[in-house]
Amino acid sequence: MQISEETYYSEAVTHLRENLALALRAASKHGLAEGVCNHFSLELPDQSGRFLLNPRGLLWEEVFADDVVLINENGDVLAGKHPVEPTAMFINSAIHRICKKVCVLHTHMPNATALSLTKYGKLDTKLSQSAMRFHGRVSADTKYSGLALDVSEGERIARAMNGRDIVFLGNHGVVVCADRMDYAYDDLYYLERACELEVLARSTGQELVGVSEDLAQKVSDETLQDRLQSELFFKALRRTM
Ligand SMILES: [Zn+2]
Repeated sequence: MQISEETYYSEAVTHLRENLALALRAASKHGLAEGVCNHFSLELPDQSGRFLLNPRGLLWEEVFADDVVLINENGDVLAGKHPVEPTAMFINSAIHRICKKVCVLHTHMPNATALSLTKYGKLDTKLSQSAMRFHGRVSADTKYSGLALDVSEGERIARAMNGRDIVFLGNHGVVVCADRMDYAYDDLYYLERACELEVLARSTGQELVGVSEDLAQKVSDETLQDRLQSELFFKALRRTM
């Protein structure tokens, strides 16, 4: 407990807690939150299997850095003043462990979740320019089997990621992963925007026109080559929130 408390208040981990809290508050502001459900988690860089998580029962808009909890992969609270929701373990923990992802953001954001209800089950990354940045980075888990109440649900989702950054959870929601919180948040935000465009376009009832595989891949490569925009977006959120 003592060592984890020291870790929790260290400069490096305090910075990570601030980033996690900022991402949660921004997600609330951008309409990506739902009640007091869903989890953002951030693994510590020391490979100890410990990660930071939002606390149970708080709205995302009210979470500050000192509300974030430090837990191990069994869900034991090592530091922090709040309890955690057990289901966080089953999705987020499995993805950290199996996919080796540092940031794991799970939401039921409305437009991405709406596409998880369709037969294709995910964003069409050849439609809008906003969607093309995700070309080749999205997978779908189509085997929804109820609430994630045991580890098998999380492990199945983790396997369905199949090396991608994003997985649409059929009839449920979405998970976005990255190695840094600013990149993860930028992807989460633009994923919802891209899904919103597709939902709007489909609502017209008109036939949709996508671009070629090569062009979508080119846009994806170009976006990922320079992620300064992602860093600047997160910095701007830090200034304004
Ligand atoms: Zn969920």
